[in-house]
This record gives sequence, structure tokens and C-alpha cells, in this order.
Amino acid sequence: MRDEDIIGLVIVLVVAVVVLAVYIGLIVLGVTIAKRKNRSPHWMWFAVHPLGLLITLIVMASLSPLKRCPQCAQTTQLHARLCPFCGYNFAMAGAPGIYAPPPPVYIPPQRY
Ligand SMILES: [Zn+2]
Repeated sequence: MRDEDIIGLVIVLVVAVVVLAVYIGLIVLGVTIAKRKNRSPHWMWFAVHPLGLLITLIVMASLSPLKRCPQCAQTTQLHARLCPFCGYNFAMAGAPGIYAPPPPVYIPPQRY
């Protein structure tokens, strides 16, 4: 093997490692944006394809953030006043809204 071949191989390997590091960094950036906006980070699985990475990053950056209901942990629009899933009132933080907790479970007394 000639010296020029070894140098060329090293250059190709270094370029491949740099490209892979940038690619993974962009995926991590997309996951970070998704988590910050309460969106599912699993959308970044489209980044398996480079075009999917580009499209998903653009879409994820342009989507509006969601807020998470403290009562049922579902996500809803940022401007929502009531949770569409459980009726939690975001305006009155801590108030139960129209949600009523289930009645306590009746446990019959045991006979001995
Ligand atoms: Zn809720």
C-alpha cells in the first residue's frame, strides 16, 4: 500500500466521522426542540433519511409549542383554557375544573 493511499484513506475516514457527528448532532437538536415544545421526539425517526431530517427539523422548528395538563398529562394547545381531555382549568391553576374524581372504592367488612 502506497503512502498516498493511506493518507487518502485517513482523510476519507476523518470526513466520514465529521459528517456523521454533524448528522447525529442535528438529530439531537431536533429531539431537544421537540421536547422543549412538548412534541413527540419520535418524529425525529424520519431523520433516518437525510431529506427526512431536513423536513422534520423545519417542521419541528415552525410548530407552536404545546402545554401539558398537570392533571392528566395530556398535551393541548398553548392558548387552551380548559384541558380537552379532563376539563382541567388552566386559568384557575390548582382548581379542579369540571373534572370530578372517582368515588372512593367500597371495601366490604370481612367476617371472621
Ligand atoms: Zn387534562
